[in-house]
Amino acid sequence: MRCPFCSHPESKVLDSRPTEEGNAIRRRRECLVCGRRFTTYEKVEQVPLLVVKRDGRREAFSRQKIIGGLVRSCEKRPVPISALEALAEEVEQEVRNSAENEVPSVAIGEMVMERLRKLDEVAYVRFASVYRQFTDIKRFREELEKLLEGAES
Ligand SMILES: [Zn+2]
Repeated sequence: MRCPFCSHPESKVLDSRPTEEGNAIRRRRECLVCGRRFTTYEKVEQVPLLVVKRDGRREAFSRQKIIGGLVRSCEKRPVPISALEALAEEVEQEVRNSAENEVPSVAIGEMVMERLRKLDEVAYVRFASVYRQFTDIKRFREELEKLLEGAES
């Protein structure tokens, strides 16, 4: 990284720490020639990720959108927003790790539901009912029955 003052290509790193958002590393550097200090940022290059909807349309992946759906499902439930943010982040990581740049919305919904179920069963049923749009009443009822059985034992 060239010194912005004298253009010398070498500097030493005085300090490295993650930024507040945790998505970059901030490095404090000192030029080996003129001794002036400057800051550089190192970031992961984000590959664009597209979600393929049921009707075939594509839209950009949005973690915020997942959190929005989760917040609605968790209304009046004892689930902290931090747990929902962590869940959405986990899903995003899993999707990005798959190295595909297109992912069906159905697959994302399943990943979210699988995790939400462990977090809060009521929120899970709400999310599933919206997500599956009651097109599959039989499966929805089966899910409910499983939950009720679990509550009795
Ligand atoms: Zn310099």
